[in-house]
Amino acid sequence: MPETEKRVLIAGAGPVGLVAAASLARQGIPVTVFEASPELSRESRASTFHPPTLDMLAGIGVADGLIAQGLIAPTVQYRSRDDGPIAQFDFGDIADLTGHPYRLQSEQFKLTKIIVEAFGADDNFRIEFGRKLEGVAQDDEGIEVDLRGVDGSLERRRGLWLIGADGAKSAVRKALDIPFSGFTWPERFLVVSTSFDFLQIFPDLTSVSYVADPKQWHFLLQIPGMWRVMFPIAPEVSDDQASSSEFAAATLGGLIPAAADADILHVTLYRVHQRVADSFRKGRAFLAGDAAHINNPLGGMGMNGGIHDVVNLCGRLARVWHKQAPQPELDRYDLQRRLVTLEHVQRQTIENKRNLEASDARDQQEFRVRMARTAAEPALARDYLQKISMLASLKRAAELG
Ligand SMILES: Cc1cc2nc3c(=O)[nH]c(=O)nc-3n(C[C@H](O)[C@H](O)[C@H](O)COP(=O)(O)OP(=O)(O)OC[C@H]3O[C@@H](n4cnc5c(N)ncnc54)[C@H](O)[C@@H]3O)c2cc1C
Repeated sequence: MPETEKRVLIAGAGPVGLVAAASLARQGIPVTVFEASPELSRESRASTFHPPTLDMLAGIGVADGLIAQGLIAPTVQYRSRDDGPIAQFDFGDIADLTGHPYRLQSEQFKLTKIIVEAFGADDNFRIEFGRKLEGVAQDDEGIEVDLRGVDGSLERRRGLWLIGADGAKSAVRKALDIPFSGFTWPERFLVVSTSFDFLQIFPDLTSVSYVADPKQWHFLLQIPGMWRVMFPIAPEVSDDQASSSEFAAATLGGLIPAAADADILHVTLYRVHQRVADSFRKGRAFLAGDAAHINNPLGGMGMNGGIHDVVNLCGRLARVWHKQAPQPELDRYDLQRRLVTLEHVQRQTIENKRNLEASDARDQQEFRVRMARTAAEPALARDYLQKISMLASLKRAAELG
């Protein structure tokens, strides 16, 4: 048996694994992150950080650096493709509830880089690249992981706790034999990045705009230097066809004719799921982030929810580590985070998609009237802002005790 390192082991150096590592290191707990890839990912995925997530990132000292590299979006807008704006919400209306009353538009790879740079010299923070977790075993005293090196070698390491933040295909979740219940949407989502200036054609557009349409709903998100447009792709279009720049340009032009000649910077095609692990904990192992739950990106809640997971978990682990709380403290993690994932994140993201794609004229009209009324009535707008900023899910988790 390898020697038990007095450390927390973390699988995956994505935003969730690294926020966990930073949070624990700051609380005086040694961590080792094992990352399968030889370097941090540069993939263009999440680009929205919600207000309470920024508050949490401020708690580990990395919010300012991220905000400096991002774009502040003080409002969120809902539009109809035919009639323009339906409703607009201003995060300033919940400025008493957060230190960051806006959505920050910034790619997730900026956060992971900032964390590694900020914590690189911290003795408690270690990261090992090219180390793919392949197996997990545990007993009363500790937990072991099998790691495959880039040269094919296999090594066993042992620590006190393990956080599986190794993404949607989590090897930790599979090793723990925890089902990932839910479903996969038939359509895929295409994200097209372009430097085309949509404000030329829609001067009333805001940096975060969701556009309802029965045939081709989409959303437009501005990030520094470009816009990202996301829309659904019908099952009959092949992956190869949908991933080509020509298809992206033609679809964008079909949607917004003035953008037919827009330069296409990136095209990414995603299969989209709604799944939640049947448990977020097994003994000394925890699941967090995409390893624990995945959802469609409407509302930008996947990574944000994952960061909320590990801030919750690492606070508990720190109290148990420093003997300020007994081990049952850790059971609250699964109870709180799994429930709010189901009640809030899954429900809200599915509802967001259904609203935008509604094809029945009555449903479309009902959505428009409801959103316009919600935006116009201050109490309703405040409640809605708490829902979409995920403050409501955190409040609910706290109520669970
Ligand atoms: C198009 C798109 C847009 C999105 N937009 C948003 C948004 O705006 N806001 C939002 O909140 N969410 C968004 N999401 C979701 C977000 O990208 C994910 O929720 C987020 O990346 C999850 O972070 P994570 O750290 O849990 O997992 P990942 O980012 O997947 O990181 C997992 C890490 O684990 C490593 N790994 C995998 N297997 C192993 C192994 N066996 N051993 C060791 N390491 C391993 C991987 O290499 C990777 O580095 C979006 C997703 C998509 C597809």
